[in-house]
Amino acid sequence: MTFAELNLTKPLLNALTDKGYETPTVIQEKVYSVVMSGRDVCGIAQTGTGKTFAYLLPCLRQYQFTKDKTPQLLILVPTRELVVQVVEAVQELTTYMNIVTVGVYGGVNLKPQQAAVHAGADVLVATPGRLVDLLSAGAVKMKALKRLVIDEVDEMLNLGFRAQLKVILDLLPPKRQNLLFSATLTDEVEALMNTYFNAPIRVEA
Ligand code: AMP
Repeated sequence: MTFAELNLTKPLLNALTDKGYETPTVIQEKVYSVVMSGRDVCGIAQTGTGKTFAYLLPCLRQYQFTKDKTPQLLILVPTRELVVQVVEAVQELTTYMNIVTVGVYGGVNLKPQQAAVHAGADVLVATPGRLVDLLSAGAVKMKALKRLVIDEVDEMLNLGFRAQLKVILDLLPPKRQNLLFSATLTDEVEALMNTYFNAPIRVEA
């Protein structure tokens, strides 16, 4: 199986080809078809398996251009470093797409991030605490959201983002597709999915 056989759009395929990516990893192939079928996903995968492109490719594949610059895709990650990495991965894949990606994280001044989000974000990558700050300030609207990705949820819970994650999940439009990635499937992760996800399909790397 090659990326050319995945039914990707030309801009995505060209971006992959530019970077020399030819063959999807196991998790990429599996997650792609589940996301395209519209089902929720529970992915069990470690870093290094290609999990980032696994969720980005089908989510970006289904991106629909609108003039409304509020996020269609929200990616929650536990750390600032991961925000930066995921933003870079989105930018790598969207070289030929008219998509604005904004990353927000805590520990720095809120104002510049607020301005960046206000200027328009199609894809928002965020740590949970900072996203709650932005939502509370009324700085970001979630009305156009189609897909939510929660990456490294086990780490997110370990870092104590439980309450913020729930605030966010309760605020998002209910009609959305959910993807969650975790290195391990703990009882708490299962409980979270039982509450907020719709019969997720389990996929392993
Ligand atoms: P991740 O598991 O998402 O952290 O990705 C690990 C690394 O694998 C990243 O540096 C990606 O650039 C790279 N990568 C992701 N997908 C592929 C692929 N299909 N072929 C080759 N390298 C890849």
